[in-house]
Amino acid sequence: MIEDLVQIRLLGEKKRPENERFRRYLKAHDHSDRRLRRMAEAIEEQIDCTKCANCCRVATTRISERDIERLSRHLGTSPERFVTDYTTTSEDEGLILKRGDTGCVFLEGNLCGVYESRPDTSSRFPMMQGVNRSIVLGRWKCRHRACYSPIVYNALESFKEDAGFTR
Ligand code: SF4
Repeated sequence: MIEDLVQIRLLGEKKRPENERFRRYLKAHDHSDRRLRRMAEAIEEQIDCTKCANCCRVATTRISERDIERLSRHLGTSPERFVTDYTTTSEDEGLILKRGDTGCVFLEGNLCGVYESRPDTSSRFPMMQGVNRSIVLGRWKCRHRACYSPIVYNALESFKEDAGFTR
């Protein structure tokens, strides 16, 4: 298991082509999605996100209407005020949480300042599955996330081994 963030970034970048090849391999080999999910969960259990928080530092966080309602209630403000104060628009992703020099606007040290009411994107992260909940067929962001998320990087490496993928 590799948890060092510098190593993860270097290896994740280096392995981008390999991980893309692995995605095609998975699709072609009809690998059990349930099995991959179980392996991803086992990796998640071994990594303490409160000691890392790198995903909150690096990744953008999409916001839905439901998130806006929940978070504005949590912060005791109106949905309109919440949108003005805490969100911005990204060309690719639509409405996202604002970010500062150290990442998400709600990140406090390594902890989430709105944890109980955090956006759905955050509670599902690092979301090994795509929108259709399939690791194999989903919109595969794993190869990007493997450059900054210890969970995704290590899960992908376990998947490769389990699937008999030749690196
Ligand atoms: S809302 Fe919380 S969990 Fe989500 S990115 Fe921001 S700090 Fe991280």
